[in-house]
Amino acid sequence: MRDLLDGLDDEQRTAVLAPSGPVCVLAGAGTGKTRTITHRIAHLIATDAHPVSEIMAVTFTTRAAGEMRVRLRALGAPGVQARTFHSAALKQLRYFWPTAVGGQLWPLLENKLRLVAMASRRVGSGTDAATLRDLAGEIEWAKATLAAPSTYQAAAAKALRDPSVAPETVAKVFEVYESVKRDAEQLDFDDLLLHTSAILEDNETVAREFRARYRCFVVDEYQDVTPLQQRTLQAWLGGRNQLTVVGDANQTIYSFAGASPKHLLEFDKTYPEASVIRLENDYRSTPQVVTLANRVIAGAGAGHRFRLKLRAVLPDGPQAVFSEHPDEPTEASEVSAKIAARIEAGMPASSIAILYRINAQSEVYEKALTEAGVPYVVKGGQRFFARAEVRQAMTLVRRAAESAPETHERGGPVLIDQVRELLGPIGLSDDPPPPGALRDRWDSLLGVVSIAEELADAGNEPGLRELAAELEQRSEAQHAPTIEGVTLASLHAAKGLEWDAVHLVGLTDGTLPIQYAETPEQVEEERRLLYVGVTRARTHLHVSWALSRTAGGRRSRRRSRFLTGIAPDAPARAGTGRCRVCAGPLITPGEIKTGRCHNCPSSADPQLVEALKTWRRQRSADDSVPAFVVFSDATLLAIAERRPTDDAALLAIPGIGPTKLDSYGCEVLAVVGRTR
Ligand code: ATP
Ligand code: MG
Repeated sequence: MRDLLDGLDDEQRTAVLAPSGPVCVLAGAGTGKTRTITHRIAHLIATDAHPVSEIMAVTFTTRAAGEMRVRLRALGAPGVQARTFHSAALKQLRYFWPTAVGGQLWPLLENKLRLVAMASRRVGSGTDAATLRDLAGEIEWAKATLAAPSTYQAAAAKALRDPSVAPETVAKVFEVYESVKRDAEQLDFDDLLLHTSAILEDNETVAREFRARYRCFVVDEYQDVTPLQQRTLQAWLGGRNQLTVVGDANQTIYSFAGASPKHLLEFDKTYPEASVIRLENDYRSTPQVVTLANRVIAGAGAGHRFRLKLRAVLPDGPQAVFSEHPDEPTEASEVSAKIAARIEAGMPASSIAILYRINAQSEVYEKALTEAGVPYVVKGGQRFFARAEVRQAMTLVRRAAESAPETHERGGPVLIDQVRELLGPIGLSDDPPPPGALRDRWDSLLGVVSIAEELADAGNEPGLRELAAELEQRSEAQHAPTIEGVTLASLHAAKGLEWDAVHLVGLTDGTLPIQYAETPEQVEEERRLLYVGVTRARTHLHVSWALSRTAGGRRSRRRSRFLTGIAPDAPARAGTGRCRVCAGPLITPGEIKTGRCHNCPSSADPQLVEALKTWRRQRSADDSVPAFVVFSDATLLAIAERRPTDDAALLAIPGIGPTKLDSYGCEVLAVVGRTR
């Protein structure tokens, strides 16, 4: 018993020791919520408050449930049911269905797309893969928020849903989908919860038996509970109050899917007798990481209801590193090189993660890690080359390559046009489609075009055949089975997890916050995603972004607005940096030399500029060379602005190398010295 209370702080212990009844732990990331509930479960068992069989723990993902079972076993409480809502409901329905409905449980529809397609065809709506996935997403949202086909439209309008298919069409497809499914006697995942709650609500006998069996419920990540899950939980409880919930409203990241922190925040209203415990000590992360996490949430503004401050208790660690890169491939290869060095230095690959906002961002990292020889595992999303649209694009390219005559036109620009033309009919429109499955598909297809662009950049007049071979090769190379590897995951899939080193990548405005986050609520959900990302790191946190998507592309991107006041304003990086005055990206060679946009005011002393020009005139006349051979205007201005006092400072100015230093160094330093 001692053991169960060891390794807990006072507040955590209070939560563990609270008698069986309503308990709510409201606390920030890394404060030990998950640890507290596993200890609480083990303690309830050890003190005979509940036998193992009476307890049901639900968590968010299969992986988290698995981890909870492992931890419970280690605490001497094997055999506790730790499941996701869906898997718990499936188990119960299997048992109750014969009594409540009759016969065996209807089979589970693993993938609803076929039925959605059938329904969509009947309604006369689109049946392409992207539309079907959007329709399926809307149907899932509707069911998660307890909307029926007849109430979907009103609910969607109220929730400001903006599906790519007209809401009245969604409602019709939803209705037909439900009736086709019922006629076929099949269930989708959400039906598992709907039927479980309906049976427990309506069938006295079943409810009595269920409630005699299960008497204690524990829910992790309660901030992201959907109305459907909440209804199921209430049906399980049947008016009882043996419920422990833990959550962090600042980590609500599934609002778009119908989840809401309301139930967590109003727990003490629902159960006035509840023990509400707040944890503040962050046991996961170094003070450096904790400070950043607090700043991210503080950025949410004064009106923010549930700001919780984390208190750092671990020893100091390294400062977070922020880095800006000219383009995504460079960002990815630098991140990969850093990771390779960490692994080389002895850090296990599995304690490192790269986290991004959308799954489409994984491709460039998959490639860079492969090139760096670093093993990785992609979580919560399909690998780039496993995505249906990417496979489809590869087939199209291969077929076109096979049927193209030998004499077919070749070369970079031609190839890119050909690829765009090939991929147009499968979803690569000129303009990006609105958010949703169509947009994901578009992003993936654009990834294929960027591979063609890279091939074209490499020269050798590539044609479709070379592209087909390149795609094949890349897809092979990335299929290496990996178990012990760096985790690649979306921020959504990273919740609840932790790593020693975390790289948050691609943090540009438009990606985080994602471009389609328009309302203040949507933008705040994006900020919470950053908070979730930052708080995954135990020790090393590395934040990066790139100013252009492709190598050599226009540097039109800006770092995420959430980084203002968090990252240093102008990371010093010669050649790829930002303006010293306005912090905007530097584009022309002249701007890079002076470290300042050409529109921004120069800090140079005009007298020094004049003195340097006079010296240059003299020197070029003496050597019989044109003035610019000595120094360009931009270099001269850079010298005047930076006022170097030694050789090292001179060498740090772009445009001055060892040869120029040898020829002019002493004279320039003398001119600068004279006008001090
Ligand atoms: P999240 O909000 O991200 O899910 P959490 O609140 O569930 O975080 P845990 O995962 O339970 O946090 O704990 C974070 C880390 O801190 C874990 O490695 C855990 O073992 C450790 N930890 C928690 N409490 C303590 C404690 N009292 N002493 C030492 N380590 C602790
Ligand atoms: Mg947790």
